[in-house]
Amino acid sequence: MEARPETDPDDLGPIFLPKAMPVTIKCPACKAPNDTGPNCRRCKADLAVLFQIEDQRHTLIRTAEAAIAASDTRKALAKAQSADQLRRDPESVRLLACASLLRGDYAEALRLYSLADDSPSPA
Ligand SMILES: [Zn+2]
Repeated sequence: MEARPETDPDDLGPIFLPKAMPVTIKCPACKAPNDTGPNCRRCKADLAVLFQIEDQRHTLIRTAEAAIAASDTRKALAKAQSADQLRRDPESVRLLACASLLRGDYAEALRLYSLADDSPSPA
């Protein structure tokens, strides 16, 4: 019998995460939009923590997507909820809807889907 290497239950194998999408962070001090950090381009306020939170959220989103692909719906739901708590957007709500659907919680999936889909449609 072949010994299996110890595996971390959270490790879904090699996942090639795309580099974090550039996010625009509005400076809380001067309201200038910033897509590169760590300092505000206008007032030089330190925005490093805000960029770190966005990076963390991006990782949670990608981990939730990988968990859905691996049919680990419990983990997908947990990671999607964490991402959604950091900042709600249609992407995090759609992931929550997907995880709820896969877990058989159809009412919650429908509720979330309708939340995610209320963006203005292109004319
Ligand atoms: Zn600023």
